[in-house]
Amino acid sequence: MVTTHIPESTLLVWYCRRCDKSCKVQPPDPEQVACKCDNPVPGLRPTRVTVMHTPKPRPLHALSDEEARLRALAHKGTKVRVTFEAEMTEAWRWSSAGRNGIDFIVTDPDGRRHTVNGSQPGLRIEAIPADEGNAS
Ligand SMILES: [Zn+2]
Repeated sequence: MVTTHIPESTLLVWYCRRCDKSCKVQPPDPEQVACKCDNPVPGLRPTRVTVMHTPKPRPLHALSDEEARLRALAHKGTKVRVTFEAEMTEAWRWSSAGRNGIDFIVTDPDGRRHTVNGSQPGLRIEAIPADEGNAS
């Protein structure tokens, strides 16, 4: 297994005898040096310090709940039911080459019109119950 970043590392830290703050770090890391003395006096022995490196947050592509939900469905073979609500706007019977059926034009709540082939296999059109339709 290959890790792409090391979550923590061990430093050798020498503390300054004047201010008791770190004045020398091995391997060198300016962020870990706290001593501000003009002439730091490092202690004789370094202290082993484990430093946690907080990983930078990755820039995540914002994914809305709805988009995530749709992505989860976007696999070939997933069984879905496609529905939308609309208002019946127009309907007509047709017959052609010995076949006949009814087509509809419906208007959805956003005012868009959709042509619906009433004889499309698997299509199911049903009335929205009056109480349900008035609820919204
Ligand atoms: Zn110091």
